[in-house]
Amino acid sequence: MNGTEDSVADAVSATVARYGGNPHYVLQMLREIQESCDWISPEAIDRLQSALCLPRTKIEGVAGFYAFLYSRPRGRYRVLFSDNITDRMLGNLELLDYMCEQLWVERGKTSEDGLVSIDTASCTGMCDQGPALLVNNYAVTRMTRDRVDEICELIRDKVPLADWPQEYFRIDDQVRRKDILLGSAFAPGDALSAALARGPEALLAEIKTSNLRGRGGAGFGTGLKWEACRSAEGGARCVVCNADEGEPGTFKDRVLLASYADMVFEGMTLCALAIGSERGMLYLRGEYRYLLDQLNAVLERRRRRKLLGTGILGRSGFDFDIEIHLGAGAYVCGEESALIESLEGKRGTPRNRPPFPVTHGYLGQPTVVNNVETFAASCLIVQRGGSWYAGIGTPASAGTKILSVSGDCARPGLYEYPFGISVSEVLQDCGGLDAQAVQVSGPSGTCIAAPEFGRRIAFEDIPTAGAFMVFDHSRDMFEVARNFVHFFAHESCGFCTPCRVGTSLLKKLMDKLNNGHGSPYDLAEIEKLNRLLQSMSHCGLGHSACNPVLDTIAKFRPAYEKRLQHKEFEPAFDLDRALRKARQMTGRDDAGAHFAPASGSDR
Ligand code: SF4
Repeated sequence: MNGTEDSVADAVSATVARYGGNPHYVLQMLREIQESCDWISPEAIDRLQSALCLPRTKIEGVAGFYAFLYSRPRGRYRVLFSDNITDRMLGNLELLDYMCEQLWVERGKTSEDGLVSIDTASCTGMCDQGPALLVNNYAVTRMTRDRVDEICELIRDKVPLADWPQEYFRIDDQVRRKDILLGSAFAPGDALSAALARGPEALLAEIKTSNLRGRGGAGFGTGLKWEACRSAEGGARCVVCNADEGEPGTFKDRVLLASYADMVFEGMTLCALAIGSERGMLYLRGEYRYLLDQLNAVLERRRRRKLLGTGILGRSGFDFDIEIHLGAGAYVCGEESALIESLEGKRGTPRNRPPFPVTHGYLGQPTVVNNVETFAASCLIVQRGGSWYAGIGTPASAGTKILSVSGDCARPGLYEYPFGISVSEVLQDCGGLDAQAVQVSGPSGTCIAAPEFGRRIAFEDIPTAGAFMVFDHSRDMFEVARNFVHFFAHESCGFCTPCRVGTSLLKKLMDKLNNGHGSPYDLAEIEKLNRLLQSMSHCGLGHSACNPVLDTIAKFRPAYEKRLQHKEFEPAFDLDRALRKARQMTGRDDAGAHFAPASGSDR
């Protein structure tokens, strides 16, 4: 543990200097201080406060918001098991319990000697090669019992992470089907040269002609967004790439950033040319920390080749550069206004909208926020023309979509298809032949049952940000929905009461059904909660929190019926059951030792 007074002082002053004392980088500073000191101590906050002249409460508020920032000492090795439903299906919790046993540490706690802490994290984006975990924010994939044994040994021997076998950190792309984007032979600079030859207006016109829609799920017209930003009042403009792909089951951006980063950065530069921006930011989810150095190397290479910086490709006045901000474990930051708050170094709380980021975004400047895949696709449009692109897919959904396929299938990985592909065709390709359901677009998306497998992936039928999780007939769809509900309760940012309380009540209702206390009353309560969350929540997380439950109630009702063990209302807490341990300890099982009415012998 590196937390002495001197080391804290050194870490804070070096970090503050690196960011020029700019308080908008406070999240990045906290993250880096933690990387040096293992946690963010009160002393680190004191020093940051005086260096940045920020109120202490503000820094504490930021440190307390993000799941990957620790304001209390944690282990020198901080292990977080990915806890998406697909990790559960691969046995993550058994492996977690086994590691806890081996290292004599309780889940969620730190070992007595401060060596290790073990807990869970929401989906880490490795669903195609799970079960996965993070050690000090670095992803380890394909966990097995043997690998747990080896990791325990390394931790006991205090081996630095840099000396662990590189095989543990191997993350494969697993691209199974390429189309126009993943199969393109893209040469850095080609799209930019084509755009410069056309000029900014013609570039914008080409993007509009292509009918490219945002690939983050909402599907807003990219050309319209760029045009609105270009014509918004104000001087400086920003280009932001949303690489915070936190939706469980989605991992396409991970591959695009690992192997197609030039396309993504070039798409951002095209946007800058179209809207007249000099500043770009890529917000990378904290779970993809391992990509940071290689992405910075790509940026450096592009600067050397005059594809970034001042006078891009020799064009005087075309100045643009990109910096990378790392998130710290907050799903809500995938919402574009929350992401902008986070970029400004604040808690990632979604803003009131309107105004929208295209007019009032980063630091109040007109800002385009687009998904990783959207920026990459814009390069193809500039190279091959908007009409060509508009002719692929369906009339309302132009181009292709990359799906992140995981779960019960023989070939998980990335599949790129023209829009309009049916669910059954994807299942054929990935080997999900025994599927009873597919969750498209993650927990906030849609659960599709077998009779609907003819439906199509397209904005006009099933829109998606990319997740495609397959569940075969051995899976209990109630458990799937319960996992998703726990996810929403965990990720609710707590800003508005309906979502903060509603997601927690929903979780308790699902746990109550699971524990055998369910009645039809509870299903009616879920519907009431849905109305409340839909109408009163501040952002999409609250709006969609009930989706997985309502979908599975409608399509897999027997999974719920078997849990409705009571006709009348039952409280969730069973006092008589809770007294069982006391009865065992005292050796009593008479009527007086039961909370009336007696529920039978425990012996
Ligand atoms: Fe936060 Fe939930 Fe409210 Fe969104 S709906 S602002 S996630 S509490």
